Amino acid sequence: MLRLPKFRYLQPASLSEAVRMMSDAGPDAMYVAGGTDLYPNMKRRQQVPKVVIGLAHLKQLRTMKGKPAEGMVLGAGLVLTDVAEERRIQRSYPAVAKATELISTPLLRNMGSIGGNLLLDTRCNYYDQNYEWRKAIHFCMKKDGEICWVAPSSPRCWAVQSSDCAPVMVAIGAKVKLVSSSGERVIGAAELYHDDGIQHLNKQPGELLTEIHLPATNGWRATYWKLRRRGSFDFPVLGVATCVRQAGDGTVEDAKIILGGVGSSPLEAVLAQRAIIGKKLTDETIREAAAAAYPAAKPLDNTDFAMSWRKDMARYYVAGTLRELAGLPPSFPKPDGDNGSPVLRVL
Ligand SMILES: Cc1cc2nc3c(=O)[nH]c(=O)nc-3n(C[C@H](O)[C@H](O)[C@H](O)COP(=O)(O)OP(=O)(O)OC[C@H]3O[C@@H](n4cnc5c(N)ncnc54)[C@H](O)[C@@H]3O)c2cc1C
Ligand code: SF4
Repeated sequence: MLRLPKFRYLQPASLSEAVRMMSDAGPDAMYVAGGTDLYPNMKRRQQVPKVVIGLAHLKQLRTMKGKPAEGMVLGAGLVLTDVAEERRIQRSYPAVAKATELISTPLLRNMGSIGGNLLLDTRCNYYDQNYEWRKAIHFCMKKDGEICWVAPSSPRCWAVQSSDCAPVMVAIGAKVKLVSSSGERVIGAAELYHDDGIQHLNKQPGELLTEIHLPATNGWRATYWKLRRRGSFDFPVLGVATCVRQAGDGTVEDAKIILGGVGSSPLEAVLAQRAIIGKKLTDETIREAAAAAYPAAKPLDNTDFAMSWRKDMARYYVAGTLRELAGLPPSFPKPDGDNGSPVLRVL
């Protein structure tokens, strides 16, 4: 059985006290919400904070404010179940409801917070192992070692961004509020992420994520599709979040197609977006967008499934999200260059 290392647990009574505790404790401290990511990482000695500041009981982090027509503000401490089951979210932000509802299992969704999900550590088959396993291979660049076992000549780590909510928040243009002893700032969800397996967040370690600002629902629509081996439990090995705004005649005025689980940050499929902006969503334009999404997906051989197959599936999943938003039948059009890959599971 893996045991937690020794650490000091602090329980602040308010947000300001949490920020003060973090400032006093310095770089050896980390926040914890549900602990469904941090505690397993601590047991595997991937993250070893000496001080852990608990947030789960802070009511200020569990509020849900606003109306979809004006935009909503989600407290970062809301557990995933509360977000997935909220009527306003289901009705007006179905992509958010779907992404949260597809995370892991009911037990973990009752513990895990939406804030913790957005700040999830990146994942890799060579990193998500216990200490002895990692020691036996002389560790790796992400923690305690010097080499990347996935790409040995690479100067960077390619661990995978594996949060289901991250691509959705980027696609819909959500914002996040970060608070620290030096003040507070609100940044776009896209700015929160950095394409590096180690420095994967543009966030100071002491910054507390307090709020997630969902934009007003003025004409855009979004959906999220997740690829994983089992219908429950598993992290995404590909997640596609697609958001479109269409004119009255169906012409796409704006589009965001964001790929999760195939890079160290949510990746924007820019060419796929260009393939549909200014056009209507038809079999042909969707096929073009799907083909253009292929180069944007950059999976490596460090998570479940063969990387070439995951890359291939990006085309099918982009096509699938666009067909759903266009109200077209859910069959997969054959994107250009189709090599007959079977569709394993569509969620
Ligand atoms: C078996 C298993 C399956 C899983 N499957 C999935 C999956 O399919 N999809 C998926 O996306 N995730 C999955 N997860 C990961 C995890 O359960 C969720 O991402 C969950 O939402 C994390 O939230 P948490 O509150 O438990 O985070 P915690 O573990 O509490 O924290 C995660 C990180 O965020 C930091 N943090 C948390 N809250 C704040 C805050 N408010 N401000 C600043 N820093 C903060 C912590 O310091 C830590 O670094 C899985 C986990 C397990 C164990
Ligand atoms: S991608 Fe390389 S450096 Fe990063 S966790 Fe995996 S093996 Fe380690």
